[in-house]
Amino acid sequence: MLKIGEKGAIPQKGRTTYAIAPHIPCGVVTPELLRKLADIAEKYQVQAMKITGATRIALVGLKEEDIDSVWNELGMDKGAAVGLCVRSIRACPGTTFCTMGKQDALGMGMKLDALYHGAQLPGKFKMAVSGCKINCAESSVRDFGLIGEAEGWKVVVGGNVGVTPRLADEVAKGLTDEQALEFAPKVITYYAETATKGERLGKMIERVGLNALKSAVQ
Ligand code: SF4
Repeated sequence: MLKIGEKGAIPQKGRTTYAIAPHIPCGVVTPELLRKLADIAEKYQVQAMKITGATRIALVGLKEEDIDSVWNELGMDKGAAVGLCVRSIRACPGTTFCTMGKQDALGMGMKLDALYHGAQLPGKFKMAVSGCKINCAESSVRDFGLIGEAEGWKVVVGGNVGVTPRLADEVAKGLTDEQALEFAPKVITYYAETATKGERLGKMIERVGLNALKSAVQ
């Protein structure tokens, strides 16, 4: 029998109810998905439907005995909302919809999500893709961020928010889509091999030095 955490259920205040957050790649939903979520939210009388910072829709206030049934009826993957892994991959509309877009942020975000969402790592790891320097997906405060420029993708690494916010460091620019997709696993592999348990990439960079990371990935 799975433990409650393995069911993707997060205890809520008072520890009598739970929230679940299905995986919604890059926050893109359909009318059908919204109807399904709304129907299930009504059926199981959730206390709230909360759009999260990771662009998921959490169902909040579920009873423990309903969690398995809710997941079965949703038929969706669990969002990696907790644990030492690749949590969220945020992406702005990019050239798909935004007049300011310089690169296809949504397409790139979807590719990164398919490749890395939930991958186990030494620490929490978040990714974001912004289609231009306005940086709406907040790539500069993510462990791995891409920012679209006219010449290609700029790569920034080691950013995070939280108790000790840190701005990401630039490590490459002018990359094509293919080059950016090849760059991501180099950073992830170096982080997986170098970080101590629970150490965010930004902290690791401060320990080993940015040049060590650059040498390893370039
Ligand atoms: S980062 Fe740029 S491309 Fe993306 S939504 Fe913001 S303005 Fe548009």
